[in-house]
Amino acid sequence: MTPIKQDDLIRSTADALQFISYYHPVDYIESLAAAYKAEESPAAKDAIAQILTNSRMCAEGHRPICQDTGIVVAFVKVGMDVRWEDATMSVTDMINEGVRRAYLDPDNTLRASIVSDPEGARRNTKDNTPAVVHYDLVQGGTVEVKIAAKGGGSENKSKFVMLNPSDSIVDWVVKTLPTMGAGWCPPGMLGIGIGGSAEKAMVLAKESLMEPIDMHELKKRGPKNRLEELRIEIYDAANALGIGAQGLGGLSTVLDVKILDYPTHAASKPVGMIPNCAATRHAHFTLDGSGAARLDPPDLARWPDVHWAPAPTSKRVDVDTLTREEVASWKPGERLLLNGKILTGRDAAHKRIADLFAKGEPLPAGVDFTNRIIFYVGPVNPVRDEVVGPAGPTTATRMDKFTEMMLAKTGLLAMIGKGERGPVAVEAIRKYRAAYLMAVGGAAYLVSKAIRSSRVVAFGDLGMEAIYEFDVRDMPVTVAVDSRGTSVHQTGPREWQQKIGKIPVVTA
Ligand code: SF4
Repeated sequence: MTPIKQDDLIRSTADALQFISYYHPVDYIESLAAAYKAEESPAAKDAIAQILTNSRMCAEGHRPICQDTGIVVAFVKVGMDVRWEDATMSVTDMINEGVRRAYLDPDNTLRASIVSDPEGARRNTKDNTPAVVHYDLVQGGTVEVKIAAKGGGSENKSKFVMLNPSDSIVDWVVKTLPTMGAGWCPPGMLGIGIGGSAEKAMVLAKESLMEPIDMHELKKRGPKNRLEELRIEIYDAANALGIGAQGLGGLSTVLDVKILDYPTHAASKPVGMIPNCAATRHAHFTLDGSGAARLDPPDLARWPDVHWAPAPTSKRVDVDTLTREEVASWKPGERLLLNGKILTGRDAAHKRIADLFAKGEPLPAGVDFTNRIIFYVGPVNPVRDEVVGPAGPTTATRMDKFTEMMLAKTGLLAMIGKGERGPVAVEAIRKYRAAYLMAVGGAAYLVSKAIRSSRVVAFGDLGMEAIYEFDVRDMPVTVAVDSRGTSVHQTGPREWQQKIGKIPVVTA
């Protein structure tokens, strides 16, 4: 029997979560670097450059790749010849203790994003626990752990279908992927689980994302079985959609497609699909009784020589003197560098504002959105001399249902988020001659460097969901919906799908 110490699992879990918060897997970086080289769409290339530059900064500065430091998911294979020598906790509690230590680490505090009572109070658990843990009891004397910190934006785009046995999975992916928008921060991976039962297909999809990216090698050597053929078919079909980095239109939407399968009922073909985003984060370690696992830092020479800088054509905007006329002059796709004071707010703050208005009450003292811009963000807490931790945009569509209210009742002029806006929000933007600006999801540390000061102005009890005022200097954003309601998330992919020329474009 192999004796495994409780603290070895706790420490290994905490170390792995810290490690993946600032080191992208090298396979992801090399694949993204190849995508950068091949990319022909200027907007997508710029977004990939921001993600690559952010990644290097995080690896050097040991700060999170993204402000959403994820929900922890672990796949644990426990050998049947393992003895838990000094355990006073369950294995799940040991993993949760590792999560707690990692997320509260004062040298690199991570964002606590988990709320309990999800259909009720949605109270933040404050230490990012609990993790979601999947177990397998296997032969042998080791404990193998695959652990990930999965971003909410990409997790929210997960899909499941029960296909007929003769239905095409490629067709389903081609139909489904455009409905997922850009909130999953492409380019990333698609994890696909086929077979078993409904819940088994989803777990397989998630576990498949723990594998390294090797599409380039697979294409070079050729497929050896049906699943490898299917991986290539889905990869080619998904990229032919022209969605591109951040949904701006381009050649690279997915860097790899992973598939795991399992026998299923003769009447069924369950298929789960889970995307992994620009903040692909996972690590693997094995405990064999010799102590806590050690993860070797990657060689930064394997990061490409890409250093993002604002395009020379970018327009500087003084947001402290912003007018509706100036907002109306912005063109779709135009790059802006924002300077001055902006307010923040995301899901919980919008809900509170809506509740205040419903009761006929005013906004809290000190909150005035008149002629201002709101940034949908939940930043990481600062460490050392930072004014704010990584602070990238969150998925804007979640605020769509509040957009009419905010534009009609608060005097707001523009919003910053990531991904596309839905029809309701686009119509409100057009009606009030406002604008929606996008920042790059997965470039949170880079974005945070533009923030020169930060203070909470309302709803402090909401933690990262409070309303902050940021003073920004040359914060890079792109006009994603202009005051006439033109959306680059519609025009960009349409243009690139046509250019790629593999799928007939529906113009109606
Ligand atoms: S890269 Fe995008 S989807 Fe992924 S964690 Fe960050 S914000 Fe969320």
